[in-house]
Parts: sequence; C-alpha cells; structure tokens
Amino acid sequence: MSIEARPLEGQVALVTGASRGIGRAVARALAQRGAFVAINYRTDVDAARSCLAEIEEAGGQGGLCPFDVGDAEAPANAIAALAKEQGRLDILVNNAGITRDGLLLRYREEDWQRTLEVNLGGAFRCSRVAARTMARARYGRIVNLSSVVASMGNAGQAAYAATKAGLEGMTRALARELASRSITVNAVAPGFIDTEMTAALPEEARAAYLAMIPLGRLGSTPEVAAAVGFLVSPEASYVTGHVLAVNGGLYT
Ligand code: NAD
Repeated sequence: MSIEARPLEGQVALVTGASRGIGRAVARALAQRGAFVAINYRTDVDAARSCLAEIEEAGGQGGLCPFDVGDAEAPANAIAALAKEQGRLDILVNNAGITRDGLLLRYREEDWQRTLEVNLGGAFRCSRVAARTMARARYGRIVNLSSVVASMGNAGQAAYAATKAGLEGMTRALARELASRSITVNAVAPGFIDTEMTAALPEEARAAYLAMIPLGRLGSTPEVAAAVGFLVSPEASYVTGHVLAVNGGLYT
C-alpha cells in the first residue's frame, strides 16, 4: 500500500459501537488508512475480537476498548485510559446507537430515557473527554453518526429522530466551540443502509423505503465509512459543522 493511501498513519482513532454494522466498516476503513483503531463495544466481545482480527489480517493495528456509551462514568475512564496509553487521540467517531421504535401513545418512559442516554448522551460524554486530549494537541476530528430521519422524520421513531436531530445541533455547536483548537466536528447522516439494524424492518416497510430511494437500493456500510474517512482525513481540514447525507437521494 502506498504512503498516500495511508493518510492517518501514526494517528489514534476511537470508533464507538464498532463490533458490527457501520461502526465495523468505519473501523476497518480507518485502519486501512493507517490509524490505530480502538474498537469500542458494549457486550459482544467475540464480534469485537473478530473485527480486530480482520484489521490485523489486513495489516492494520488496533485494540479493544469496552464500555457502555450510555453510562455516566465509563466512557470518561476508558477514553482517558486509551489516550494515556496511546499518547494521543486524534479521531473520535460517535457511531454507537440504538433504535427503540414505538408509537407515541404507547411509548415507554424507559425506552425514551435509554435512547437519549445512548444516542445523545453517549456522543456528548465521549466528545467531552476526547476533546480534552485533542485540545492539548491542537488537532482533532470528531464525526457523529446521525440519520436521515433527523431531518425527514419517521412515524414510530420520535425518540430516535429526536436524538439524531439533537446530535446534528450538537455537531454544529461543538464545531464552533472547538474550532479555535483546530478540532473539526461533523456528522454523517446515512439513509437506509444494509445492516442488522435495518434487517429488523418488516418486509413491507423495506419495500416502501426502496421505492422512495432515487438510487433504487439500500446503501452499504463501506459507502458510509468512505464519507467518515473523508471527514476525518487531513484533507477535510476546512470542513466543520457539516452534516453529510449518504442516503441515495432519499432526502435532501
Ligand atoms: P447496529 O445496531 O448494527 O450497530 C450499532 C452498534 O452500536 C452495535 O455494535 C451495538 O452493540 C453498539 N451499541 C449500542 N449501544 C451501545 C452502548 N450503549 N455502548 C456501546 N456500544 C453500543 O447499527 P448500525 O446500523 O451499524 O448503525 C450505526 C450508527 O448509524 C447508529 O448510530 C445508527 O443510528 C446510525 N444509522 C444507521 C442507519 C442504517 O440504515 N443502518 C441509518 C441511519 C443511521
């Protein structure tokens, strides 16, 4: 692999929820570009280990970094330990997310709380501790995984859409706050991507979405990872506070 193809050589990245789906593809893509990738996961150690094995087999480097992003304390402790151990933390990809769908009138309080804690609270807490190391280095890249439903809306996803719209607001606020330290903060808003999250959709819902997507197909995880790969690259140094849609034209 040529030097030009490894723009993240020497950098350290943390990807939350990296054991499967989009996070796993992002972890692979960043490792392929030369970064040491810390693979965060909550419970599925086997999947996280297999992600790391894939990275190492491809000649990349990484490590495991288990914690629950929805916990009040765990992210700060784990990320501070990672930054200390590696001596730096250049990239944070806030990818971990959950969907707990349900119509408003029957929506349970505990589902609302947990969706907020994981999707929004997780990104906030991880950014808060990562930004400390990045600010000292006067360099950093934070990318938040939003969703097309943040702007489009979706029946049965009020909690999820609220967290993703919140993430986009947080992205813009942190972009302004951290710009003076050369830390960029952006979001990627995928449409319907072929992952375990969307595999759970009923067949009719899947067909209805497909009919609305101009490119006529679901997106793939490497297509989302490529967008993240651009935003965390040194070349994206003048892009901050942006939400990059990767949705096949579903919503603009
Ligand atoms: P996924 O469910 O396949 O993966 C999510 C990952 O996050 C899993 O590995 C899960 O274990 C992890 N996770 C969940 N809660 C966690 C916690 N508390 N702490 C640590 N890790 C936790 O989902 P995906 O489809 O790969 O989605 C990844 C991100 O992209 C999510 O933020 C999701 O909202 C967003 N997204 C996905 C789609 C899609 O079509 N798949 C579309 C738009 C946005």
